[in-house]
Amino acid sequence: MAKLLAEGLIRDVADFPKPGIVFKDITPVLHSPAAVIEVCELLAADAKARDADAIVAIESRGFLFGMPIALQLGLPFTPARKLDKLPFHRISEEYALEYGTNTVEMHTDAISPGQRAYIVDDLLATGGTAAACARLVERLGGKVCGFGFLVELTFLNGRANLLQSPVRALIEY
Ligand code: AMP
Repeated sequence: MAKLLAEGLIRDVADFPKPGIVFKDITPVLHSPAAVIEVCELLAADAKARDADAIVAIESRGFLFGMPIALQLGLPFTPARKLDKLPFHRISEEYALEYGTNTVEMHTDAISPGQRAYIVDDLLATGGTAAACARLVERLGGKVCGFGFLVELTFLNGRANLLQSPVRALIEY
């Protein structure tokens, strides 16, 4: 397959947010409408192939791709947010990041029982964030039909934490 436009745009930032972390900065991708459209079309096609009927995206960079994917497919969008950001009744799951620990939350009415949720984020590292988000979907009675990422850091083997559903990552490092 031809190289994605986004691949030439993602920038490595050394020692961010902590020494030893190489941060994959996707903001240059956002400067290119063509690159964003390409990413969203590929992930939307994957979500469609998985029979998704809702798109769940993870704060905050997941929102940048999740919302356009939901619009393209005509599906409901729901945000999974960090601790204490959502205003309504919510449930929480803790997770481990490549750099620290955190909590992800969803509104209790975000997913209906039986709904097939496709989970979107910009990057798969250890898989802790996406796995916690999947637990939220399942606690609400939904099913995770797939995960879609722009980038996967394969050396962290995050897929091992996401064995319950197919994982699509567009660019691997
Ligand atoms: P993980 O839970 O380890 O899979 O981490 C994934 C989340 O952390 C995603 O929301 C990413 O945006 C962010 N993240 C983790 N590591 C990096 C990295 N090296 N570069 C950019 N974002 C990262």
